[in-house]
Amino acid sequence: MRDIQNIVILTGAGISAESGIATFRGPGGLWEGHRVEDVCTPQALAHDPALVHRFYDLRRAALDTVIPNAAHDALARLDREWPGELLIVTQNVDDLHERAGATRMLHMHGELNSALCADCGVQAEWRGSLPPGSVCAACGATTLRPDIVFFGEMPYRMDAIERALSRADLFVSIGTSGAVYPAAGFVQTARYHGAQTLELNLEPSAGSVYFHEARMGAAGVLVPEWVGEVLSA
Ligand code: NAD
Ligand code: ZN
Repeated sequence: MRDIQNIVILTGAGISAESGIATFRGPGGLWEGHRVEDVCTPQALAHDPALVHRFYDLRRAALDTVIPNAAHDALARLDREWPGELLIVTQNVDDLHERAGATRMLHMHGELNSALCADCGVQAEWRGSLPPGSVCAACGATTLRPDIVFFGEMPYRMDAIERALSRADLFVSIGTSGAVYPAAGFVQTARYHGAQTLELNLEPSAGSVYFHEARMGAAGVLVPEWVGEVLSA
């Protein structure tokens, strides 16, 4: 632990599960009762914009009913107290990391509280419902969509993520199934560059075998424990 300066953390839906936000569940990977293909692809948005916009309106509204849990709080503490480099890369579209106080973080799959103009590409903070046809303040087009990276679209900030992974001494993956690329490949990139790797998840994930160490349990217990270890080493 003493040789560790630079830490990269990847979080997934599992870190928000104890706050009451559902992960992908069920055999077909249902998300809040919907097939992922029906709400999380460019084709779905083109085919049934009303359904897709309403789905994310409900997810956005649900943010008001949840609060960060002990795992988000522990990562925010690490962010405040860790003297070396740190980057928290979240696949989550909720805002619980920042509400817990984390700042050295980015959303690689977009954010519920943001709208993206499909015409000019501008991203703008958005609260409340976002019906199809909402007007972009930057260009005037009626092409605002939820700022969510759909399957088949390029995740955000890949350059910053790759740079951080190439410098990481420790890579920690928390609450992610290891099924969605490119995030699922970060552990191999980090290892290639010499990082130690640790997985914290409720159950073994698709990528568990790639980690030097895997601890199984609830994020609300495992993450505060691990942060305590790192900060006292
Ligand atoms: P996933 O739903 O595919 O996998 C979640 C993982 O978390 C599973 O391996 C599960 O075992 C684990 N888990 C569940 N409860 C846990 C707990 N209490 N503690 C620790 N681990 C727990 O999620 P993913 O890998 O993040 O991929 C899903 C994609 O769906 C992401 O890209 C994300 O954008 C999107 N998504 C986001 C949210 C959110 O923003 N909160 C919620 C659902 C889906
Ligand atoms: Zn625009």
